[in-house]
Amino acid sequence: MEKIRRTKIVDLLQREDYGAQVCVKGWVRTKRGSKAVNFIALNDGSTIKNVQVVADVEKFDPEMVKLITTGACLSVVGEMVQSIGSGQNVEIQAQQIEVLGECPADYPMQKKGQTMEYMRQYAHMRIRTNTFGAVFRIRHNMAIAIHKFFHDRGFFYFHTPLITASDCEGAGEMFQVTTKNLYDLKKDENGQIIYSDDFFGKMTSLTVSGQLEGELGATGLGQIYTFGPTFRAENSNTPRHLAEFWMIEPEVCFIDLPELMDLEEEFIKYCVKWALENCKDDLEFLNKMIDKGLIERLQSVVETEFVRLPYTEGIKILEEAVKNGHKFEFPVSWGCDLASEHERYLVEEHFKKPVIMIDYPKDIKAFYMKQNEDGKTVQGTDVLFPQIGEIIGGSVREESYDKLMKRIEEMNIPMKDMWWYLDTRKYGSCPHGGFGLGFERLILFVTGMQNIRDVIPFPRTPKTADF
Ligand code: ATP
Ligand code: MN
Repeated sequence: MEKIRRTKIVDLLQREDYGAQVCVKGWVRTKRGSKAVNFIALNDGSTIKNVQVVADVEKFDPEMVKLITTGACLSVVGEMVQSIGSGQNVEIQAQQIEVLGECPADYPMQKKGQTMEYMRQYAHMRIRTNTFGAVFRIRHNMAIAIHKFFHDRGFFYFHTPLITASDCEGAGEMFQVTTKNLYDLKKDENGQIIYSDDFFGKMTSLTVSGQLEGELGATGLGQIYTFGPTFRAENSNTPRHLAEFWMIEPEVCFIDLPELMDLEEEFIKYCVKWALENCKDDLEFLNKMIDKGLIERLQSVVETEFVRLPYTEGIKILEEAVKNGHKFEFPVSWGCDLASEHERYLVEEHFKKPVIMIDYPKDIKAFYMKQNEDGKTVQGTDVLFPQIGEIIGGSVREESYDKLMKRIEEMNIPMKDMWWYLDTRKYGSCPHGGFGLGFERLILFVTGMQNIRDVIPFPRTPKTADF
């Protein structure tokens, strides 16, 4: 028999040439039916939709039919026919079925309605389920949208290193990189580890952010963005933190604070709109099964103008709330770092809209943020979202060499080996700014999933690094 080329299910379901002979390959989601006819729902990952395969049992070897179980992998050749009962327009009247991979009854994705915790233990198999298929197709689409957004606006995709010798951003939460024998560490007379004979000849770690090198890129190329993994050994076991996550960091020359906020807002809206337009089936599924308010929330973000709120005013609103009897776990006053309960109060209860908070006290923000005239605040911007809290952190950068140096000294920032960063301010310094978006926080928002561990294929968190 002549070999028929395989059709992906996503393409098959678009076709109307009924009567054609087709071949599909995929995994059995369910099988039902009678002694005479079997209805097999087959999925190949190309879409959330299954195609129904109708098999007249008497035409097939009974031993083979027994092997068509949930999770088994099949190759089916048959006639494409119009369908009335399957929920799709197309179904396949099977002529040949080959079992490519049998699936015994202890298949961990056998039962529906398992908890997310259960699914996480089988991260290598959960990708075959409807929910995770939807999440990871959306994740792919968001990556494409991000590249398209920046490319269309003349940003260059700039690759920053993952291994870094600077610890001025993430001291304390960095993973060290070494080829040293950890069982036999050489130390100097002060008890300090000697790194001169380590691979890089100095202490190195995995990066917590590509921003500093991103600034180098921007000051040559004008506007760049990074999109890569970052690592933080923060021991925060929250549903919003991973030890390995992906970050998008645009950096733009000649941008001021209002323009930076415009870019942040336009960027997120573009991504959400892309999902609404390109991930309809998956979003409808998630809206039905995971979060009934999802699509409405996405639409509302695309349509509403984000609130732009100076930190000082935000604190006033929160203090007012406390006065009126609202209970927060953590106290609020000017100068404090906002906890996620505070951010969520502003976004979900007070404004009921995304909020871009700006002009933070300088002592709770990074050394490189541009200092305001008041001497107290800096031009940082956090974009706060419903359900998520902080989704973006950004700032206009301090471009004055002297002001930057003064801040570095005041804050005791370890700038050893950072001469190259300071050179940007020394030679042709320019106003610039940028932000970091946590990719998984965006995916959380767009999918309605509750835990960041469920929007990355193989999460890395304290005490877990399986798969
Ligand atoms: P948070 O206060 O939520 O810990 P942060 O202030 O440490 O965030 P930044 O250093 O500004 O965050 O990083 C930029 C963005 O990266 C954040 O807005 C967030 O979207 C994302 N992000 C930060 N830490 C993590 C993490 N551990 N896991 C996933 N995403 C993160
Ligand atoms: Mn953090």
